Amino acid sequence: MLMNGIEGRMEQNVPLKTLSTWKIGGLAEWVVWPITVSEIEKLWRFAQDEQILIRLIGRGSNLLFPDEGLRGITIVTTALTGEVWGKCTLQAEAGCSLARVAQEAGERGLSGLEFARGIPGTLGGAIAMNAGAHGEEIQNVLHTVKVLTEDGKIQTFAKEKLTFGYRECSLQGKAWILAAELQFNTGKKEKIKAQMVENLARRKDAQPLELPNAGSVFRNPPGDSAGRLIEQAGWKGKGVGGAQVSPKHANFIVNVGNATAADVLALIQAIQKDVFEKYGVELRTEVHYLTV
Ligand SMILES: Cc1cc2nc3c(=O)[nH]c(=O)nc-3n(C[C@H](O)[C@H](O)[C@H](O)COP(=O)(O)OP(=O)(O)OC[C@H]3O[C@@H](n4cnc5c(N)ncnc54)[C@H](O)[C@@H]3O)c2cc1C
Repeated sequence: MLMNGIEGRMEQNVPLKTLSTWKIGGLAEWVVWPITVSEIEKLWRFAQDEQILIRLIGRGSNLLFPDEGLRGITIVTTALTGEVWGKCTLQAEAGCSLARVAQEAGERGLSGLEFARGIPGTLGGAIAMNAGAHGEEIQNVLHTVKVLTEDGKIQTFAKEKLTFGYRECSLQGKAWILAAELQFNTGKKEKIKAQMVENLARRKDAQPLELPNAGSVFRNPPGDSAGRLIEQAGWKGKGVGGAQVSPKHANFIVNVGNATAADVLALIQAIQKDVFEKYGVELRTEVHYLTV
């Protein structure tokens, strides 16, 4: 690919397995890890001019990549990690690790991201997904978001201009989040850190963190738990190929060895059909399946 002005790493035919916590997927034609926001803008323009497919991902902790791979350019934000801390604020670029930012906030006695220790994504991915846990969501600490819009404009939105729902944000699939400003409450450092330790311990107890996974596969239906329904339907430990419903947590599908996207999709569909037939509940996926 003839593209000037990019200092970040650029590689051809990259196994998508290496870009996803599920460790699944074929080859990505081109992968770029930009180190500045202006490189992302340049890549966007290059792709428009050359009519090349382009997409942007974070840590790949909520993604299923196709076995056939991805054509065009895949931008990975994980090298875009600038951050500036204020007294109760943080201005951070999209690729910052959410868990690390949460930890640093705790060290500074800043409250609001206690829920986020143990969520393995980037800040940009967390905002796009409105990541949350233990009754809290990233939107609660969000102040402004800087994005590249679908028509190539850089814009900054106040949080009030956006809408958020359960694992949803109005920017999802419409704009690339480049950076954000977070606003925290001050709190007692020891209390914040203790809450994080407790949250991490709960995750370790409940989640199969020893095997590749992408967190909760299905959204919880209103007033119920996807994991409870799947477990009740008898799916724990069952699987297709290398994909297995975790015996530890029924809403996690783990890669027990060389799982393919086809295995995961077949398992997802079988669970959806069975749960619908047994309980009349339509399970919707939380994980995103990237095909283009
Ligand atoms: C063990 C484990 C535990 C988890 N626990 C939780 C949990 O408690 N709560 C929770 O909410 N999630 C959880 N997740 C899921 C996942 O970590 C979150 O959804 C996370 O916010 C995704 O961030 P990411 O950088 O990995 O995004 P990716 O997986 O790379 O991308 C997810 C989606 O966001 C889009 N996206 C990514 N970055 C940007 C950006 N900068 N701008 C615009 N769009 C973007 C992608 O295109 C894709 O559609 C868990 C996952 C794992 C593996």
